[in-house]
Amino acid sequence: MSISENLQNIKSSLPENVTLVAVSKTKPISDLMKAYNAGQRIFGENKIQEMAEKYEAMPKDIQWHMIGHVQRNKVKYMAEFVNLIHGVDSYKLLKEINKQANKHDRTIDCLLQIKIAEEDSKFGMSAEDASILLQSNEFSELNNVNIIGVMGMATFTDNKKQVETEFKFLKSIFDNLKTLNSKLLTISMGMSRDYKLAIDCGSTMIRVGSSIFGVRNYQ
Ligand SMILES: *Cc1c(COP(=O)(O)O)cnc(C)c1O
Repeated sequence: MSISENLQNIKSSLPENVTLVAVSKTKPISDLMKAYNAGQRIFGENKIQEMAEKYEAMPKDIQWHMIGHVQRNKVKYMAEFVNLIHGVDSYKLLKEINKQANKHDRTIDCLLQIKIAEEDSKFGMSAEDASILLQSNEFSELNNVNIIGVMGMATFTDNKKQVETEFKFLKSIFDNLKTLNSKLLTISMGMSRDYKLAIDCGSTMIRVGSSIFGVRNYQ
């Protein structure tokens, strides 16, 4: 099936409160433009340089989401245009995002990445660290960042029960954090293989790549 058919199929199955991020990492501009021409306006990338190149080349009504791990020294390359940074996992990173956003007179929306998977390889903060951060004076002094929710990645496994447990864990962390900060709205969880389950567990934002653009070829 074509990119636009894949996109329509997924979109027509989503509840109204769920936002679809089309994850276009490694894919050429021509593929992204097919999704754009089918109406998609939110794209997710996991490398800052690749996202910046695509931003330059593509229509300016696109919202660009950084979904990957962010190195502090590269924040400056996306501060001018990025709409949402999903992978914020430390105060130090948040402070750098704030500094770079300030240079461009912008406020950048961010999600706190929470470690919900058993795997060691996944990044993220603990629920406790997130709660400490949200209540800290240091955070309240950052005027150019907005934390609007949380993001998490489940373990890469065929064990549906485990993935479900991890998604429900993130939803409960979100509910707790929301009592500290009512600005929290977004739960970013769910990818091609597990987005339906994620939505059942309370996801409001799914990050879908291969089910739209086909399998990736890393070279
Ligand atoms: C690549 C990626 C996705 C999308 O993965 P698919 O399995 O292709 O849907 C989602 N989230 C993150 C953080 C990713 O790096």
